[in-house]
Amino acid sequence: MPFSALGLSPALIHSATAMGFVAPTPIQEAAIPAILRGADVVGSAQTGSGKTAAFALPLLQLLQAGAPHTPRRVRALVLVPTRELAAQVGEVVRTLAQHLPQPVKVAVVFGGVSINPQMMGLRGGADVVVATPGRLLDLVEHNALQLASVNLLVLDEADRLLDLGFAEELQRTLALLPQQRQNLFFSATFPAAVQTLAEGLLTDPVRVAV
Ligand code: AMP
Repeated sequence: MPFSALGLSPALIHSATAMGFVAPTPIQEAAIPAILRGADVVGSAQTGSGKTAAFALPLLQLLQAGAPHTPRRVRALVLVPTRELAAQVGEVVRTLAQHLPQPVKVAVVFGGVSINPQMMGLRGGADVVVATPGRLLDLVEHNALQLASVNLLVLDEADRLLDLGFAEELQRTLALLPQQRQNLFFSATFPAAVQTLAEGLLTDPVRVAV
């Protein structure tokens, strides 16, 4: 199946092609149309499956479909377990957003480094925030960002988020988000704790597995 069959805009197909993607991976083929129609998605996906673009491409298209807030407010939140993954995912989202008619501001925040540059980076707001859970909450507490406008939540590597002890931060973050939102949930494994988290979060999800 070509990228053009998934419902993505020409600008995003161009971005995917510019990254050297010729055809969608199986998880992209399954997840992208479901995400574009607004469904919650639970994906069983290993690193290397193409899962980042599987959520980043439709995330960007959904952002383009809505008007940006003035000033910018966070509309999509991507939670990841580690700073390395935050940097990687942020880079993919930024690269895919490069050719879009409406500019998308992506902020990447993670712990283990000074908070001040991240606070400066959030001045003027952001459309997409890619974050590790602890630093995200620190920034909320510093009033550097607020989450009341988030209508798309992505949990990436949910099993590692729980393994690294982020359960409490996740629950505190969820309590700050609007009830009405779309949720995308990716994990390599689904032990009981991960399943419970998914069930609490997702409404009638489309299941995609690779
Ligand atoms: P991920 O599973 O998101 O970590 O992606 C693994 C690797 O696959 C990354 O290097 C991506 O750039 C690459 N990739 C993602 N989607 C595609 C695609 N449709 N065709 C070729 N490579 C891809």
